[in-house]
Amino acid sequence: MLISEAQKNGSKKKYFENILLFRKKKSITDLDLRNKRVLVRVDFNVPLDKHGRITDDRRIRFTLPTLHYLLNENCKIILVSHLGRPEGKVEDSLRLTPIYKRLKEYFPLNNILKAEECIGKKVKQMVKNLKPRDILLLENPRFYPEEKENDPEFSKELASLAEIYVTEAFATAHRKHASTYGVCNYIDEKGYGFLMEKELKFMSIIMEKPKRPYTVILGGKKVSDKLDVIKYLIGIADNIIIGGGMAYTFLLAKGYRIGKSIRDLSKLDEVRDYLEESPNFKTNIYLPRDVVVCDEYLYPKFVKVVPITNIEEKHVGVDIGPETIEEFKKILDKSKQVAWNGPLGVFENKQFENGTKEIARFLIEKKIFTIIGGGDSAAAFEKFGFQDEVSFISTGGGASLYMMQGTVLPAIECLSDKE
Ligand code: ADP
Ligand code: MG
Repeated sequence: MLISEAQKNGSKKKYFENILLFRKKKSITDLDLRNKRVLVRVDFNVPLDKHGRITDDRRIRFTLPTLHYLLNENCKIILVSHLGRPEGKVEDSLRLTPIYKRLKEYFPLNNILKAEECIGKKVKQMVKNLKPRDILLLENPRFYPEEKENDPEFSKELASLAEIYVTEAFATAHRKHASTYGVCNYIDEKGYGFLMEKELKFMSIIMEKPKRPYTVILGGKKVSDKLDVIKYLIGIADNIIIGGGMAYTFLLAKGYRIGKSIRDLSKLDEVRDYLEESPNFKTNIYLPRDVVVCDEYLYPKFVKVVPITNIEEKHVGVDIGPETIEEFKKILDKSKQVAWNGPLGVFENKQFENGTKEIARFLIEKKIFTIIGGGDSAAAFEKFGFQDEVSFISTGGGASLYMMQGTVLPAIECLSDKE
């Protein structure tokens, strides 16, 4: 679809309606929670090391305000979260035991329990025995194929455990799964928690009334997902900076050779449309001028900087070059707000981290209001030790892209309307 078509027919109005839908939905403070059994869908999909130890527990920590609020309301709390991708069967390494242990540390005075299943008789009995201010952690719902299938029976079973549903799982909010979506068909009262609220507010602030110039940085390697977003950013963002693995499909569309760099050939025509039409909508698209190339990602025999006109067949593009960094900094220096999704290079390798690190450092030093989305982008900020210095790091990558596209998040859509 041409961009102009996406922008026509009041679709822009719908775009904002979708982004702001959460304002019409109940938040945790709109719910009558006193003494109730509350099912909380959290996203405790935390990174684990090879010994099964949690390496970063922000996703747990960030839900503490909601959990404390529920405890103050004398609730019985039932937590449900997926962990990893067990593909519908039990995988012992993806049991929620490490999370259970961490919860015990955060709530030393409460009775914390863990179920061995997510639904069923035993779980029901455990719920029945709960006392106010107890916390029960259910086992990984993705051990059941029904979770991803959004199965009605599974959803109903889950719903039968509680009187109220609260969602805190922003990072999974774009999924129509039983525990994020289907369950809402069978519970009357449902709203979003404080973490979800913060995520939605930050995203909506930057999209509804952007401080201009508004610059979006897109990088990473999920090329086709992110290309879909650009359509909706044209006419809304003032500048779109393309780096990382995203850049090469654009360079190819412009007729440059890109060697062995990653690309999405199915999107070439679309990318040509973006490049052609974006000036009509006063959105500038910036591409790298020089890139860091090597012969292979893992054990490169050579690494060098080349202008984009000199990429050879044997080259793999792995980072933006110094001239590009300078140019991007100039654009960012004038920007009043930045949304950044996707690293600008293969930052996991120290040799290829420079572009991502330099741009991150610049945004922090210049105190430019910046929201980071995307698991790997967040990991890059952690790696550089910048995580506490940037304005906001979202816990959701896919979900924040969905919001940028103006797609309604299913996990929000299914909540109770405000009265
Ligand atoms: P996010 O999780 O922030 O949304 P993605 O998942 O789309 O980002 O992509 C992150 C990955 O992209 C990183 O692991 C990084 O190594 C990779 N990447 C960045 N630049 C390139 C590149 N030029 N070629 C291949 N992969 C890249
Ligand atoms: Mg990623």
